[in-house]
Amino acid sequence: MSLKLPLDAAGAADFHFQDALGQELPCSCGRVHRTQLEAFIISAKVADRLPDLLRRWGCRHPYLVMDRNTERVQGADVRAALRAAGFPAQDFIFPDPELVPDESALKRLEAATRRAEAIDFWIAVGSGTLNDLVRYVAHRRSQPYLVVATAPSMDGYASGASPLIIDRMKQTFPAQSPRAILADPEVLAAAPERLLAAGVGDVLGKYSALADWELGRIVTGESYCPFLVARVARSRDSVLALRRAIFRRELAAVTELFYALVEVGIAMDYQGSSRPASGAEHHLAHFWEMQQLLDGCHAPPHGIQVAYGALLTAELWRALPAICPTTEGALTHAGDRPSWEQGIRRIYGPAAPPVLALADTDPVHNPALRRDRLAAIRANWPQIYALREQVPLRAELEAAYRDVGLPLDAASIRVSPGRERDGLLWARDLRSRYTIFRLYEDLGLSTILGER
Ligand SMILES: [Zn+2]
Ligand SMILES: [Zn+2]
Repeated sequence: MSLKLPLDAAGAADFHFQDALGQELPCSCGRVHRTQLEAFIISAKVADRLPDLLRRWGCRHPYLVMDRNTERVQGADVRAALRAAGFPAQDFIFPDPELVPDESALKRLEAATRRAEAIDFWIAVGSGTLNDLVRYVAHRRSQPYLVVATAPSMDGYASGASPLIIDRMKQTFPAQSPRAILADPEVLAAAPERLLAAGVGDVLGKYSALADWELGRIVTGESYCPFLVARVARSRDSVLALRRAIFRRELAAVTELFYALVEVGIAMDYQGSSRPASGAEHHLAHFWEMQQLLDGCHAPPHGIQVAYGALLTAELWRALPAICPTTEGALTHAGDRPSWEQGIRRIYGPAAPPVLALADTDPVHNPALRRDRLAAIRANWPQIYALREQVPLRAELEAAYRDVGLPLDAASIRVSPGRERDGLLWARDLRSRYTIFRLYEDLGLSTILGER
């Protein structure tokens, strides 16, 4: 199918990212979008497609990484297909029942690969954690990597970054973007229920994420792409419509969920940041996950925490007043730095130093820029107020969540009421990004969050 360039929102409905892989895409947003992904294959017996791909790329010594579970559901087929085609297909299998992307896992993987013969291509068979580990190691060796996905659980398959847990802190490191993403619909549809829920939750979080992105455009003039917004919104709406069929494990619906997750990942690649996919709801999820790690407990899947975060941000959008609040004398933490710093140290504990360091460069703390933002907020209040129409009511989201077992309360994601409130007040400081939290802060409304 021919591609209409430059890309624009009107043409978004007819765009299929598979037709555009490997191309430079001039866009009406003023940028040229590109992704590292060269192949996307979703089909039965997908392992049989691997040898051709590897030959096309001149690879001779692929190295497979999986865990016991992903070996059983997909990895054994991949190994057999490669060996039948004459590849040596060495592998490493993590024995962990709940693999964590931390120093220990990295060390074990690197020790195993030292014993392996010349590796020239990495293949991860798995979902989030396995990919985070493999793309990081591939990047350190400047070698290509591809993924054979086993669950439609998160939108990071196309990502070029790895969140890893180092010193019990989740930190994001540069990593290799995959050259190919492959999946077998039957395997995806047989994934554990909580991973299906996580995938749906990560996608439903995009209501909040996209509203935040447009808010950032209005208030700070940040780079914004209506084409990508239209694509991500389309993915999100299709997953919402198909949620019950996804939970009945219908192959077409699960395929659509996977397609949506990959598409959102490609949107991040196109934009060069996670902006199209991540706003205040993700900051809440990251905040809670960080606290769970510090507590030493296993965090629920990312997308499930995002889904709960999105319930809270939905409420914040709805609570905006129709008339722009007066902001004279509204105090932000920029205006009271010592007590803000104290708060950060208390809330973040050992994780406080990077959060404090981020604040030194975050324009949100610059008083002159705050004046500019307030002027933009006042001048554009009707537009900002109208953004809430893009975000469903909490009750509407809850109705959809009930169909797929997503959380309706904080206890379901092991978050206490105190932690929930801390997240509303402090998660915004994890990232330099304008969101509904920053709007509340600029308007001096943050105290409302603590009183919920
Ligand atoms: Zn996410
Ligand atoms: Zn664009």
